[in-house]
Formats: sequence, structure tokens, C-alpha cells
Amino acid sequence: MDPIYLDHHATTPCDPRVVEAMLPYFTDLFGNPSSVTTAQGRKASNAVEDARISIARFLGIQASELVFTAGATESNNVAIHVEGHVITSAIEHKSVLLPAQRHEHTILTPDGEGFVTVDAVRDALRPDTKLVSIEAANGEIGTLQPIAEIGALCRERGILFHTDATQALGKVPLDLTNVDLASFSAHKLYGPKGIGALFVRRGVRVRPVMVGGGQERGIRSGTINVPAVVGFGAAVQLRKLEMAEEAARLTSLRDALWDRLTAEIEGVSVHGPRALRLPGNLNVSFDRIESDSLILAMRRFSLSSGSACSSGERGPSRLLTAIGAAEPDVVNGAIRIGLGKSNTAEQMDWLVEDLKRNVARLREISAA
Ligand code: PMP
Repeated sequence: MDPIYLDHHATTPCDPRVVEAMLPYFTDLFGNPSSVTTAQGRKASNAVEDARISIARFLGIQASELVFTAGATESNNVAIHVEGHVITSAIEHKSVLLPAQRHEHTILTPDGEGFVTVDAVRDALRPDTKLVSIEAANGEIGTLQPIAEIGALCRERGILFHTDATQALGKVPLDLTNVDLASFSAHKLYGPKGIGALFVRRGVRVRPVMVGGGQERGIRSGTINVPAVVGFGAAVQLRKLEMAEEAARLTSLRDALWDRLTAEIEGVSVHGPRALRLPGNLNVSFDRIESDSLILAMRRFSLSSGSACSSGERGPSRLLTAIGAAEPDVVNGAIRIGLGKSNTAEQMDWLVEDLKRNVARLREISAA
């Protein structure tokens, strides 16, 4: 039997209903959506535009403001392809941080719960600041950033505001009123991998990273991945119906787990806020325990210590170091518990039991 999956921030399984919606677009409905002189192309184009409309409706934006990309990595790279000073935070995904470092940039340090405050952004603004990029939700400690407030400040000052909403889409309500650019990836919300989108508010100009056939208003050349776009649309439709209920269920599983771990195990630290947090996220460390050893010992569960893109790096994560939570000899890495659709209360009981047993055993070994 496979271990119980608790890594839903890294990716989620594609919902079978999403796969079913995609399948005809590999075979019967194979047309190239740019080839509108053919009936096949027009059918494919209609499917792409239907998906665009349903995703845009869910986001409260115009369909013409949504550009399909190969995922959030690409969307982030396009969004940050600007001239001028860029402000971002130390806990962003690398697909934001690395492009930002190509420009004049300021990297903000969030507070101890991972929040980037409006004041911190205001203090960092310069006359030549072109763009601020702050994620909507953090994939490691779950912090939900005040993007409406940061966006309002940017708008007031005539500065572009981009948010990487990859971890937020389909998990929590998203308010894009004050946002100019936003990145998404379908595989975080039970859709397929390799498909995402960039919201580009009407009137905002972005420079493409790749040039070619001029698809997607020239922002993203290349033949559109029609089955994946259809899957993205179907995944969003399902989230529209199921998100609120699942968010409430996961929040209560998560809070119960939080309370039990802190009550039943000594020397536990939970990282990140209790409120304003992604429903399925818990990030916890145990004094005198290396997270790598604990993850290895917890064989019944698929766990990680943080971003899949940085797994393999040893020691406390870049994020825990940035928020000041990584005290040497105390917090030697944390485990990230990423809950999703398949997880149950019974599994949480098993998780607490296994954590208790393994933490005690590893502490005994290290004391010996
Ligand atoms: N941003 C965030 C916050 C993410 O969690 C991820 C995926 N780990 C990405 C961007 C990149 O998404 P993708 O790998 O689908 O391009």
C-alpha cells in the first residue's frame, strides 16, 4: 500500500472527473485552436475559450485578461520581466525570487508568522519602483498575505502589483480587485500538471519571455495545450462547487491536529499563524529532532520539510531562517503537513500516534 499522502502543497492528484473531461481532446477533438479555418480547430478553440471564461468568472476578471501558460513558474517569469526596481519577499517561490534578482531589487523579511506588512512594502518603495510581487499564500507555513491592502498601496502610487497565487487558488477566496498580475498552476487544485495561467489586468503591458507564433495575445507563443486547458477549466469548476466545504473540513482537521500535537508531545513548535492560514497547512518542528530523520522514520506517511523545489537541501528551510524560527540546536528543520481531499480524521489519529512514537525514539537515540 502507498503511504498516506500529506504533501498536497507540492501537488495534488488529478481528479478523475477532470481526466474524463480532458480525454476527448487528445483524440477526437484534436484540432489546433489557432487553425480556425478548420472545423476541428474551431471546436478546440471553443473548448479553450469556454475554459478561459469559467476560470475568469471564478476569479472575477474578464476572460480576455487570462493568458494560459505552462504553469506558475512561467507566469511568474513573465510577470517579473520588467525594467525597474522590484520589491518582493524572502519567502517567495524561486520562480519569483530568481527573476527579481535580475533587476534592481529589495527583498523584504516577513515577520515571525510569515506576514509581509503593508508598512514594510511602503517603507521599501523607491521613486523607480516598477513592480511589487508578494504571494497570496505561502506553501510552507500557509500564511495568507494582505494582498488587497498591498495592492491598494501600489495602485495609489502607480506601481504594478503581482501576486503568485499558486497556493491560494481553489483553497481560499481570492480578491484580485487591487491586483494587476497574478500567477496560477492547475496541478495544485486537482488539475493536470504543466498548465497554468497569468492574469494580466486590461491596460497592463507585459513583455513576453518567449516569442513565436503570437498566440495568447503575443504574451505566450506556442500551440495551446488544449486537453490541459480543458482540465484546468474543469478543475476550477469543481473547486467552485467544493472549495468552501473542503476548506472548513480541512481547517477543523488541521486545528485538531495542532491542538493534539502541542498537548501530547513536549517541545513542539508550530510555525505560521493560526488564523489567516491555508486550511490544509500545518508546519511543525520538534526540539532536538532533525526533520529529515523524522520524515524517513514516518514510513506510513508521505511528508516533506518544505518546498519540493528545495527538498534535498539540508538543515532548516530558507523560509524558517527568514522568519527567525530556526534556532540552531532547537529547530533543525520542520515537517510540513499538507492536507487535502483524501485525508480523514482517522488518518490524523494514526499520524499523531506515529509522531509521538518516532519523536520519542529519535530523542532517545540522540540522547544516548
Ligand atoms: N509558486 C508557488 C508558490 C508554488 O508553490 C509553485 C509550485 N511548487 C510554483 C510557483 C511553481 O509552479 P509550477 O511548478 O507548476 O510551475
